[in-house]
Amino acid sequence: EGRWFAVRVAPLGTHGLVLVLAEDLTEMRRVEAIRRDFVANVSHELKTPVGALSLLAETVENAADDPEAVRRFSGRMQHEAVRLGNLVQDLMTLSRVQGDEPLAELRTVALDEMIAESLDRCQIKADAKDIELATAGGTGLKVRGDEELLTTALRNLIDNAVAYSPDHTRVAVATHLPDPDHVEITVTDQGIGIPAADLERIFERFYRVDPARSRQTGGTGLGLAIVKHVTTKHGGEVTVWSKEGSGSTFTLRLPLLRGDNPSSPQSRSAS
Ligand code: ADP
Repeated sequence: EGRWFAVRVAPLGTHGLVLVLAEDLTEMRRVEAIRRDFVANVSHELKTPVGALSLLAETVENAADDPEAVRRFSGRMQHEAVRLGNLVQDLMTLSRVQGDEPLAELRTVALDEMIAESLDRCQIKADAKDIELATAGGTGLKVRGDEELLTTALRNLIDNAVAYSPDHTRVAVATHLPDPDHVEITVTDQGIGIPAADLERIFERFYRVDPARSRQTGGTGLGLAIVKHVTTKHGGEVTVWSKEGSGSTFTLRLPLLRGDNPSSPQSRSAS
């Protein structure tokens, strides 16, 4: 594909001098195409549950004299409404973290509490599949950040670990100190893993290895995009290791809060 330029000619003063500005439009066109794709994707993702809801409402209306059918279809309506709610919530979170503005309201965040809170929020889904959630705790480590966003990011990783694992397996959250200035939080599962070819794309909005499976587990397709942006916003990064058929490990690397952490490097894991 060729490159596109916008050329502006502006007269300078009274001496017949002109200023010629050439602006590279290739990047602008790329960004615009991405934005259009995103809007199309959002519309499509919204249309599905909205369509299902209106169909279900009609069905319930026609089944008014069959209480069992009403109960069943109402249950499915609730399910679709929750899906819609999750999607809207994730879109709002994403719009908060993907812009250039720095985060407001940074606080000292205790990692142990953040991990415990994230695990708590995933417990019901884990119990439903008899998946053990394991962690060591007791690190005493602290980072600086937005606690709600960091908890959401970690929770998304644990949610995925549970969603993409078979029943009766284990999901472990551990912390490591790779160097004195950073902490790594890892989420390891014994799940289906991710094909090598998809690894570099899973952090893109709405990218799914298996769209049917993601929808079935109630995924919005935005979880990892949120994780990536939240981590970047905190001066960190997220990486993934995975092997198809045996499991995945996602690692959140965050800068440690200076001067307020146990000084000797230690490594803790839930093994
Ligand atoms: P979703 O809502 O679809 O889970 P995410 O952005 O959280 O969206 O994840 C994107 C895709 O990455 C998922 O659809 C799934 O294919 C893959 N994925 C994410 N986490 C895992 C995991 N722990 N194990 C296997 N596949 C995963």
